[in-house]
Amino acid sequence: MSRAVAIVGSGPSGCYLAQALLKAAPELRLDLVDRLPVPYGLVRYGVAPDHQGTKGVIRQFERLFERQGAGFVGNVAVGEDVGLDDLRAAYDAVVLAAGLSADRTLGIAGETLEGVHRAGRLTRALYEHPDAEPLPELGPRVIIMGNGNVAIDIVRLLAKTPDELAGSDLGPVPSAWLAGSGIEEIEIVGRSPAAAAKFDAVMVKELAKLEGVRIRVLGAGASDDPEGAKKIAALEAIDGHGAGPRRITFRFGLTPMELAGEGGRISEARFQDAQGRAIALPCSAFVTAIGFGAEGVLPRDALIGSAADREAGVLAPGLYATGWFRRGPQGTIPDNRADAQLLATRILADLEAEGTPAQKPGRNAFPAWARAVGYEGWKRIDAAEIAAAPENRCRVKIASRETMLALALQTEECPQ
Ligand SMILES: Cc1cc2nc3c(=O)[nH]c(=O)nc-3n(C[C@H](O)[C@H](O)[C@H](O)COP(=O)(O)OP(=O)(O)OC[C@H]3O[C@@H](n4cnc5c(N)ncnc54)[C@H](O)[C@@H]3O)c2cc1C
Repeated sequence: MSRAVAIVGSGPSGCYLAQALLKAAPELRLDLVDRLPVPYGLVRYGVAPDHQGTKGVIRQFERLFERQGAGFVGNVAVGEDVGLDDLRAAYDAVVLAAGLSADRTLGIAGETLEGVHRAGRLTRALYEHPDAEPLPELGPRVIIMGNGNVAIDIVRLLAKTPDELAGSDLGPVPSAWLAGSGIEEIEIVGRSPAAAAKFDAVMVKELAKLEGVRIRVLGAGASDDPEGAKKIAALEAIDGHGAGPRRITFRFGLTPMELAGEGGRISEARFQDAQGRAIALPCSAFVTAIGFGAEGVLPRDALIGSAADREAGVLAPGLYATGWFRRGPQGTIPDNRADAQLLATRILADLEAEGTPAQKPGRNAFPAWARAVGYEGWKRIDAAEIAAAPENRCRVKIASRETMLALALQTEECPQ
């Protein structure tokens, strides 16, 4: 008798877990349920469009559906379209791999001013997420607050020339928006010293390939710690690069105190440096890139009760968590694989320990999933996006949920 497992979320953590489970127990009836009509989470909507190599992991995940027998149930939001308790009743094990999509805020005065934006919202708009808001007007002087890889992604994309985006999957609307942005200055500001910045040195060094910029690094300091020293060396290597029209300035050790403006729009960001001195930087837009938290219909805080739950990924009998949803918003795509291996072993041991209970119906409990998007439906969206690509792009993403659904459900019957 095969057991039924539902994984909520088809991002990297859900896909790695499905791979590990099906490798060890190919007879499992396993479904990846996603609120979007398309799979792969932040690989599609977080990884930058000019980093297609990173998105190559999708080819590995495709084998899950094409060879290992996993099912994709897209366009079904758990907590909205189907209750978590109903899902738990229908499956032997349910795993929450729903990621974290809410932008953290700074908690300072002025964050509601016009011209203050959040990295997750901005990247969702740039990468054409179906729930994205329209792209905002940034004006000539942009400050990015934060020192992680997401902040560097945004700096790089804002600074690239149209030619430098060739081969990416950036769509025509965001491409035109970037080309017409009129940005003259990008300042990237970190609260910590450079040695403690969260970005990878390799991401910083990539900025030295940009043609249209002039880069300067202020106050990078020094470090005895090898990891810190690597970051500082990368910053020193790009300091002074280029003579292009767009200035990129790195600043460190500045605590944001207040955002100020006139007529409801931001015009200045105020900071305090390590010596307690006030520093004001003029700006037309301020983008916070300071991490992510829980949002939406799954009450993460209530579900992940204790630190021990978080550590083990076991929330209740038959209910588990993995990936960013479990750990918080840290770690790269491959980091989710280690999580997956450990959790798969635990889930299989728990299923084994239960002996042979009555067979659970799995997806057969939900006739409404006849309108869900299956893997074949996603492949129709995928094929249409690739076919629409002009010469200098690898695909043109379909941004509208309605268009995706019309394509996906064209000839599809209830996913089996
Ligand atoms: C902007 C950005 C850029 C990044 N760039 C890189 C990079 O270049 N390289 C790298 O290695 N890492 C990168 N990362 C980190 C990487 O994306 C994460 O490590 C990884 O995506 C986490 O995987 P996850 O499966 O836990 O979450 P996600 O990828 O967020 O997947 C969660 C999935 O759950 C679904 N979901 C959410 N709620 C529900 C619900 N209620 N019901 C059903 N489904 C639901 C979502 O639609 C989504 O598909 C980046 C992260 C961000 C935010």
